[in-house]
Amino acid sequence: KGKAKKAGKLASKQVERAAVLGAGIMGGGIAYQSAYKGTPIVMKDINNEALDLGLTTAAGILTKLADQGRIDARKMAGVLNNITPTLSYEGVKDVDVVVEAVVENPKVKGIVLAEVEQAVADDTIITSNTSTISIDLLAQSVKRKDKFCGMHFFNPVHKMPLVEVIRGKETSDETIATVVAYAAKMGKSPIVVNDCPGFYINRVLFPYFAGFSQLVLEGADFTQVDKVMEKDFGWPMGPAYLLDVVGIDTADHCTGVMSEGFPTRMAKIDNDPVSKLYQASRLGQKNGSGFYDYG
Ligand code: NAD
Repeated sequence: KGKAKKAGKLASKQVERAAVLGAGIMGGGIAYQSAYKGTPIVMKDINNEALDLGLTTAAGILTKLADQGRIDARKMAGVLNNITPTLSYEGVKDVDVVVEAVVENPKVKGIVLAEVEQAVADDTIITSNTSTISIDLLAQSVKRKDKFCGMHFFNPVHKMPLVEVIRGKETSDETIATVVAYAAKMGKSPIVVNDCPGFYINRVLFPYFAGFSQLVLEGADFTQVDKVMEKDFGWPMGPAYLLDVVGIDTADHCTGVMSEGFPTRMAKIDNDPVSKLYQASRLGQKNGSGFYDYG
């Protein structure tokens, strides 16, 4: 009896329908990946342009696959049909899992999480794709804390296998098991990590970005740093290019969260070149210019 109870507690719920809040770089990618792997998904944003961008992202990935002969027109249409764009919470109410992927701002996320909890059924699991913000901090905005955890994808979502599933203090085992199973259904490799600012990967990545910023402040040419990291050291891209891919605004917000969370190790850098680009509205690839210019 005891064993059955334990096994029951760990059982995951089948995820038949999902929702993603935010149709940006990450939201569009998450919608594509869920739809491609057969879980229909509602994609909600606050403006139509963002929804169009999310759908264009998905269509672009599918077109590349079609050009490579890896997908036919029927499958392509099926994937796009699996993504329902919306500006309201109406379509969100019947889903099993919600992935919040709006801007990296604890206040905005808090409002969105409280709103979506009102809109969904009591047993819907709500997750956040935050890069750095503590899950326990975000959990303060929801009532059903046992049904809340982090579900952190990496950019670009369709290429990066890892998903960090972040356990908050009150997250239930069933919630973790369901989110792990959904990530696996999406073709990803989930790992379960404990909560702290930056979780696992960004506790490694953001100190690297900080080291890069210090080098630039000491006079290094960012194109040279990228060239050495990419061509000579053999990484797929250097830090300046990667920051442009991530989004300068997102990277700047994340850096702020990390220096607040680890004030000594990740002390705020005066005149950080990333903050300067953000102040100049050079947001990276998403708006055509960051460290580099994109035609
Ligand atoms: P983005 O700026 O590309 O997109 C954010 C989207 O959220 C925009 O379309 C915006 O209109 C929408 N939005 C804002 N307020 C909203 C609201 N109230 N309701 C619905 N939508 C709203 O940002 P992004 O890069 O996709 O990042 C989203 C989240 O994913 C952030 O928490 C970020 O830290 C995290 N993340 C980003 C990356 C990355 O490399 N960019 C990687 C992993 C995780």
